[in-house]
Parts: sequence; C-alpha cells; structure tokens
Amino acid sequence: MQKIFDLFISFFTNSMKTKHILFLAFLASFSAFVMHAQPVAVVRGLCLNAPSKSDVDRFVKLIDTTLAADSVNTIVLRIDYRYEYKSHPELRANDPLSEFDLKKIADACQKNHIRLIPQINLLGHQSWEGQVGKLLEVYPQFDETPSIQLPKDYKWPNADGLYCKSYCPLHHDVHKVVFDVVDEIVEACRSDAFHAGMDEVFYIAHPNCERCKGEDPTVLFARE
Ligand SMILES: [Zn+2]
Repeated sequence: MQKIFDLFISFFTNSMKTKHILFLAFLASFSAFVMHAQPVAVVRGLCLNAPSKSDVDRFVKLIDTTLAADSVNTIVLRIDYRYEYKSHPELRANDPLSEFDLKKIADACQKNHIRLIPQINLLGHQSWEGQVGKLLEVYPQFDETPSIQLPKDYKWPNADGLYCKSYCPLHHDVHKVVFDVVDEIVEACRSDAFHAGMDEVFYIAHPNCERCKGEDPTVLFARE
C-alpha cells in the first residue's frame, strides 16, 4: 500500500512539474507570438521646407513619385508663417501658400498614405542671423530680449550672446495669437499632429524680462 501511495505521490509531483513546464513553454510561445503579431510602427519620414508657391505642383509630383516609391510615410512640413492665414493675415510672410496649395499637398499625402505634419516654430527660433521672424516683426512686444537689436550682418557668436530670439512665454497675449495659427495650419493640412519646433531656445527666463526674471526656465519650457 505504501508503495502504491509513494507511486501516486511521485506521479502527481512529476505531473505538476510537467504542467509547470508546459505552462511556461506555452507562456513563452504566446509572448513571442504576441510580440511578432503586433504591428511595428516604422516611421520613414522627412522634414522639408514648404515649397515656394511656384513649386507646389513639382512638390506634389515629388510626393507622388519619388517619396511614395521610397515608402516615405511621414512628412514634417516647415511652414511657419508662409501661409495665407485668415485668423491673422498680418502674419503672412513672403510667398505664402494658399489654402488650395496646402489642399493639393494634403491630397497627395493622403493618396500615398503619408502623414503630413505642419511645423511652426514656437518659443525659440524667432529670428535668424540679422532677420527677425514674422511673429516678432508684427508683435515686437512678444520679444523676450527686446533690447537686443539685430544688425544686418549678424553672426553667431556675437557680443550679445544671442543665437536667435525667443518670444516671451509669459506675455499674456502671445498664446492667443500663436494658438490661432496653429489651429488654422493643422486644419488646412487635415493633420492629426503638429510640430512645435521649440529647439535651440537659448533665451528663456531672461533676467531683463520683467515677466520671466526669476522664473525656472525648465518650468517655463515644460509649460509651453
Ligand atoms: Zn519673458
């Protein structure tokens, strides 16, 4: 009887071990299956300047032929103020694209399964060398460093320590303006995303800015 009992216990224990092994093997196989089964989101993207108005049709052809053939699926289009904004026509830069121009580009992207993401530089990059950007040209009160004027031939490094200007994120009117144009460009591109730039923000929480001095620049950046 004892032998039968020992045999039974031995069989049961081995059986449990086998079950554990089988269960672990199943778990490993299932995990591998799930990992392989999940679609891998591959981004094949380009960041491009918006074409000049006269080159829109060539740009569409580029999308339809070369970019589609190369399986590009994302285009970040650097538009900034080169659009015929209706919410703020005063911000239209030189050679602005029309709503119809952007429709042609958006149509080409949609047809070729390319995600179109418009870009307007926010916070930093509001000037470049001796040229102030459209936002600060029209609204100089948004300038984080208004005391620094840009000479015509302005190179980095310079005595001002100014790489490119920023807008003041604490100016009470700035977001009302920039959010209007962001909304408008996203709608014109029929996009589900927006690229805000925000790189190379050299001037933030500047000690000469009455609103920002003493603020934590990391907090200002994060809130933006
Ligand atoms: Zn400020």
